[in-house]
Amino acid sequence: MNQPEGVTNDADPNAITIDAARARILERLSPSNIKEIINASSALGRVLADDVVSSIDVPPFRASAMDGYAVRSSECDQILTLAGQSLAGHPGPDQMPEFTAQRITTGARVPDDADAVVQQENVTRNDTTITIHKAPAPGLHVRNPGTDSAQGSVLLKAFERIGPTERALLATHGTTRVSTIAKLKIAVFSTGDELVEPGHQRRRGQINDANRALLLSMLDESCVELTDLGIAADTEPALEEIFEQASVADVVISSGGVSVGDADYVKQVLEKQGRMDIWKIAMKPGRPLSFGQLQSGSAFFGLPGNPVSAAITCLLFVKPAIDHLLGMKPNHIPALSLPLQGHLTKNPGRVEYQRAKMIRNSDERWAVTTTGVQDSHVLSSLHKADCLIELPVSSTGAADGEQVRVFPFTHFSRGAL
Ligand code: AMP
Ligand code: MG
Repeated sequence: MNQPEGVTNDADPNAITIDAARARILERLSPSNIKEIINASSALGRVLADDVVSSIDVPPFRASAMDGYAVRSSECDQILTLAGQSLAGHPGPDQMPEFTAQRITTGARVPDDADAVVQQENVTRNDTTITIHKAPAPGLHVRNPGTDSAQGSVLLKAFERIGPTERALLATHGTTRVSTIAKLKIAVFSTGDELVEPGHQRRRGQINDANRALLLSMLDESCVELTDLGIAADTEPALEEIFEQASVADVVISSGGVSVGDADYVKQVLEKQGRMDIWKIAMKPGRPLSFGQLQSGSAFFGLPGNPVSAAITCLLFVKPAIDHLLGMKPNHIPALSLPLQGHLTKNPGRVEYQRAKMIRNSDERWAVTTTGVQDSHVLSSLHKADCLIELPVSSTGAADGEQVRVFPFTHFSRGAL
């Protein structure tokens, strides 16, 4: 690789790319097929297990799209006599004598004999008659049955996630029960003798455990059931015990204990109870990541201990794995391209994610700037950030004004960060 003089290369011949690591993970995980039938009213965020077929036409009848008059379009060059009315929820008669019009409101049933609705603004009304300024084309302002969704059509597909729109679609069809993928069981724990439960007495050399608060929050979605297993000390018996407790979960996530110094602990213990690989991933932060399986079949992720590394590896590897286990297609993250404000330096050899903030300049154009210190223990610069700048493997940095790739957090994590 050509590189400017004086630039250190961060490439590690044993490192694998982010895409390769993710592909290896997904390859080893089979989507869940456990179904659960639940009330549609509590299905927000859940994943459908089966297609939902429309049981009715929506709209269910010919409905007016305007406040005005229901007419026969062929008669509109004549003065029409008003006869009856059709209001939303209070339909009028379906039959209309010749040369009559029915007063109609938005959402009301259009009489069978009418083929158009004339907007009230386009009509001169005298006591009991109307004169229409411009004859409507047949079908004007009439919503036909099934034009939103037709009876018998697939309304929602299996493995789609139920969001607000999907709940509303189910509601318009009167669907109150849905077949979903059962909640995925996820267990989370931290490792490290230096960690203390927040609120407990901190002895010399100890820090409060931040990663469980972070990971449990990032993973908190209605399609999963979280178990907080606490903190495991850096000893074999402590780790053995916690893995034992974790084995009922579908996915087990730990943080810490996988960097070179103490990696062997988690690895040694896990190898007695399953298998584990430690991968060096060509990324910063988050180079060491371990992935494996417990004997029980649970998937295991050993995330790096530094909180920012744990957050980014959770976004890039754990979240897609959860989506995959729930049967969903990998969520391709849409990126923005924004001009950089300030400049960034970087060694080539790995992809780098910089915590950053999008800014709207006085000319209404958007730009992006880093949130400062990027060390992977600095949670406060993640707090200040609303996006990540991605600098590719070969990049040696970016100059002021250069376009860079930006991933807003909401795109990544459905608002979980
Ligand atoms: P490790 O991967 O265990 O070597 O940890 C790397 C760094 O992350 C060390 O400075 C740890 O103290 C820190 N760390 C590990 N786990 C946590 C945690 N749960 N909360 C906050 N910092 C942590
Ligand atoms: Mg540790």
